[in-house]
Amino acid sequence: MAPAGNCTAPYNEAVNAQLNDAHLADPANPTLLEAANEAGMPGLAVNLNADLHCHSTVSDGTLSPATLAARAAGNGVELWALTDHDEVGGLAEARDAASSHGMAWLAGTEVSVSFAGETVHIVGLGFDIDHPDLIAGLAHTRSGRERRARDMAQDLEDKVGIKGTFEGALKYVGNPDLISRTHFARYLVEVGACNDTNEVFRRFLTTGKPGFVPHRWAGLGETVKWIRAAGGMAVIAHPGRYKFGPNAEYALFSEFKQHGGAGVEVVTGSHTQADYVKYAAMAIEFGLCASRGSDFHSPGESRIDLGRLSDLPRGLTPVWQALSSRIVAA
Ligand SMILES: [Zn+2]
Ligand SMILES: [Zn+2]
Repeated sequence: MAPAGNCTAPYNEAVNAQLNDAHLADPANPTLLEAANEAGMPGLAVNLNADLHCHSTVSDGTLSPATLAARAAGNGVELWALTDHDEVGGLAEARDAASSHGMAWLAGTEVSVSFAGETVHIVGLGFDIDHPDLIAGLAHTRSGRERRARDMAQDLEDKVGIKGTFEGALKYVGNPDLISRTHFARYLVEVGACNDTNEVFRRFLTTGKPGFVPHRWAGLGETVKWIRAAGGMAVIAHPGRYKFGPNAEYALFSEFKQHGGAGVEVVTGSHTQADYVKYAAMAIEFGLCASRGSDFHSPGESRIDLGRLSDLPRGLTPVWQALSSRIVAA
């Protein structure tokens, strides 16, 4: 199957304006997909309420896939993707729930990769959820989590004297393949070591702090390759969150593009207005499509709720236009 996505096609201002007008006139317009197709453009309005990044209990979120779907639909989301870390186990439930709420849907996942000594997140969208390369790639990524979590627990015991954090964190996730720092953070709040999860990350679990253990994930190119092999599009998640200098960031974008990566999150829960401007410019410079997703995890923890994001800045090609053939219509 040919990989989805070509974001170097010229932006069609006239067609987008027409679609946006139709969308603004009736935001609940159920025929948006057909309107886009009739207009001869394989895509959807630029300011579609798409939320293509969030987490369920299948990774480190606190709501089930079906509950998230209901919340997204209730908040006006028109195109939704669940992107659990290194997992596709929630996608069948997510797809069925999206359909029951009349919401268009894309397959999604968020994969951890190592780049220049940092962990970078790559969102995969619109892939075949049963593709063998994808299944194998995700299994390989997951297998390193338990070892790292045991090292973190040892570090917390040795340096801070807090015992039993591996078992404590595991209570929040069940599956050691999916254990993450967020689960440790919830446990440290539970036992009163910190008042909230932000404080946990400030005092522990981050570079240079007790409990921090670096992880060696798969490489960027390898991960982009299997997302594309499964018919999907690779998207750089929340670029504003990485601690790269300008040179390393430029290298990330150029290598990602060379490997066939095709999108970048411009509007996401952790970005500022200045980040929107910066990454819109980088999307154009590198010929990448723009994505939009809240990165919602939990009603108590997430700053931005599902579907409550700004529109994409003007002049960008949204990922949902390049992925239109991969969308499961409402
Ligand atoms: Zn992420
Ligand atoms: Zn995420």
